[in-house]
Amino acid sequence: MSQEVWKEFEDNQITHSAAHYLMAIKQLLEDHGYARVTDIAKALNITRGSCSISLKPLKKRGLVVEDENRFLKLSEEGKRLAELVELNDKLLEILFGEVLGVDAEQAEIDACKIEHLLSIEASTKLSAFVNVWNSERPEVEAFKNLLKSEPSTCAGDSGSCEVCNSICIKPLPQVPSSAS
Ligand SMILES: [Zn+2]
Ligand SMILES: [Zn+2]
Repeated sequence: MSQEVWKEFEDNQITHSAAHYLMAIKQLLEDHGYARVTDIAKALNITRGSCSISLKPLKKRGLVVEDENRFLKLSEEGKRLAELVELNDKLLEILFGEVLGVDAEQAEIDACKIEHLLSIEASTKLSAFVNVWNSERPEVEAFKNLLKSEPSTCAGDSGSCEVCNSICIKPLPQVPSSAS
């Protein structure tokens, strides 16, 4: 594995914020048939000004297209990216929540954070995995039961924790803060 991979994180195809702009526009177009800067700002709970600024690079890259009446649309590529990120989000939420048993709210947060970072290959393999997971085949049901029966909470002690193996990943106890 290349030592330079961590740097690629910064050159990802789209930023997390860009992904949410594209998804918001897609949703507005589906719900109302149009998307103006005001609508996007409202949907994302941000100011109109910062919405305009963030849309600039997306327009420049041809992902978002503005017509003469200042209505915004997604280009084919913009639409493809929005769909891909939406799909990744759905698959990751299933992986974290249903497969790994992460609390539903936390699974949603974790999925949201990384939805725009998956490679096409990882996304495709994850999709195939979720298809098997949802197939209700007896082997899959047996595997689900096996997973449930295995310990999955951290004992908080690297010497005895069966889950974290060689290192214990539980956070260290916080020094009590006076402002609690
Ligand atoms: Zn997100
Ligand atoms: Zn542990």
